[in-house]
Amino acid sequence: MPLEKYSLGIGDRFGREGRAQLRALEAARRQGVRITPVWNKSNREHTIIGTSPEDTRRSADQAVRACGWTDAYYVDADHIGPATVDKFIGSCDFFTIDIADLIGQPPPAGEESAFLRAMSGLKGTLRLPGLETPIEVTDSLLAGVAAKYLSAVAEAGRVQARIAEKKGTGGSLTEISLDEAGAAQTPDELFFILAAIARQGIPVRTIAPKFSGAFLKGIDYVGDVEKFAREFDADLAVLEAAKQRFGLPGDLKLSVHSGSDKFSLYPVMRRAILRRDAGLHLKTAGTTWLEEVIGLASAGGEGLRLAQDIYAQALARFDELARPYLAVISIDPSALPSAGEVAAWDPRAFVGALQHDPICPWFNPHFRQLVHIAFRIAAEMGERFTDLLETYREPIETHVTENLFDRHIVPLFLDDSGSERR
Ligand SMILES: [Zn+2]
Repeated sequence: MPLEKYSLGIGDRFGREGRAQLRALEAARRQGVRITPVWNKSNREHTIIGTSPEDTRRSADQAVRACGWTDAYYVDADHIGPATVDKFIGSCDFFTIDIADLIGQPPPAGEESAFLRAMSGLKGTLRLPGLETPIEVTDSLLAGVAAKYLSAVAEAGRVQARIAEKKGTGGSLTEISLDEAGAAQTPDELFFILAAIARQGIPVRTIAPKFSGAFLKGIDYVGDVEKFAREFDADLAVLEAAKQRFGLPGDLKLSVHSGSDKFSLYPVMRRAILRRDAGLHLKTAGTTWLEEVIGLASAGGEGLRLAQDIYAQALARFDELARPYLAVISIDPSALPSAGEVAAWDPRAFVGALQHDPICPWFNPHFRQLVHIAFRIAAEMGERFTDLLETYREPIETHVTENLFDRHIVPLFLDDSGSERR
């Protein structure tokens, strides 16, 4: 099962927007670019919403049938580990093994010295094709990678073995994610992490390092775009070299867990993948849920009232909702409008504050981040929410498709001027 060059993680919290999401990918295909849809959903999301991986599989299959989508598609067990892998095995064919929590644990006995021995031939100045700055392979670089990452990679090996035991080899695709680590990995470290992954025999197809800067939920990148550009480009070179040198799968590519909407990075990533003829997997997640709220609000009436209620409850339960996301949100409570203010908004004001249009004077990134993490409230509303999703199907689907296509697919996969146009 090869993974296509370009793929998009299209998280869909409530599993109702698969058709609208596929329409965006169909539009890309009409313009000559094939992008493989991957419906990613983490255990945390399933727990908060009260869904199971079987629900994600069912929604994906239904959307694919309804649209007559004939290309590949996958269902991703996002951010799983040894404790959660089993419940995803039956329904998923893409597994994102999250090893961030094990970074820095002491390596298994004997593994450290075996790794250092195996890598000793690379010591000195290592020039990799396409990598501007050679890697100075020192004892301290190798020992540092061993101490930080070997036990994490060994855990990925155990989870991979579990998946292979149940699904056979070749029955699924594997991603390894480090993006929730405390510190970014340098390209030099990434090269040797890939060496360790190859030594474990893991057929890794996508790898998600932690990049410099902040990838906050639902808003643009916060950090030094130039620095990101250099790091991303060096990572691409390192991946290509690691494939050759360590015998990793030929379709191995970078995965960017965007937290949605990293608009300022899209042109940079696009230039780099085109220049290097590299593939890319981009995960978005909450952007589709936010379009559901935008679609409801834009319709006025009951839809707007529901969106206003979601916000009022989210504001009242701010601390509780924020707790699991503290590392990936930056909300200034003093910049949040009161529930009373929002209750008086018309559709234009609500959509203006929520929609991710950085140059719109009404756009409020604090408001947007709070609504991003407020999907628990909608889940608790049960049928009141899901019924209105059906009542307002048309505006919601229009927003979901246009958002995915215009704001994500065009600037990243189709058109260099995409991000400047907005
Ligand atoms: Zn992630």
